[in-house]
Amino acid sequence: MILPIVPYGDPVLRKISKPIDKDYPNLKELIANMYETMYGADGVGLAAPQINLNIRLVVIGFRPYDEKTDTYADKAVEYTLINPEILESGEGKDYFCEGCLSIPDIHEDVLRPTTIHLHWFDENFVEHDEWIDDMFARVAQHEIDHLDGKVFTDRLSTLRKTFVKRKLNDVASGKYAVRYKMKRKK
Ligand code: ZN
Repeated sequence: MILPIVPYGDPVLRKISKPIDKDYPNLKELIANMYETMYGADGVGLAAPQINLNIRLVVIGFRPYDEKTDTYADKAVEYTLINPEILESGEGKDYFCEGCLSIPDIHEDVLRPTTIHLHWFDENFVEHDEWIDDMFARVAQHEIDHLDGKVFTDRLSTLRKTFVKRKLNDVASGKYAVRYKMKRKK
């Protein structure tokens, strides 16, 4: 089932989300719905606050890019992150142009660590403790920000923040057009 996505300006995106355990009700179904919602909106990541739930749950899915052949893999890789925690970050940082399903029409370069040491549980509550990099590390950091009440535009320079301010205000007041389902103000 496709769930409505919460737009920027909704207080649910500013709350610190709570960890969950195995007994969280209908977790399998919720995860399946989050993947469906994310792919339905052409996203590569979705955090639970974006579907109006303040719990520490993230889904990620993307087709890996191969530099050698300059093509994207046919099949997406998927990662479900439950209670993810960034334990440390690598030395290197780079810019990548990010967008967010909760913030239509804004795409900006964001500086983040290239590699992170991540601890999480997957959809079967199997524990993972790995250094991750590339697209996975990028999307994981963007989504974990959501669990901590942050969005990617918080990380822009003062100058870029000024530049996107009007668009952010437009989104917050419901002035945006998307082709996927958004939670509309009552
Ligand atoms: Zn986002």
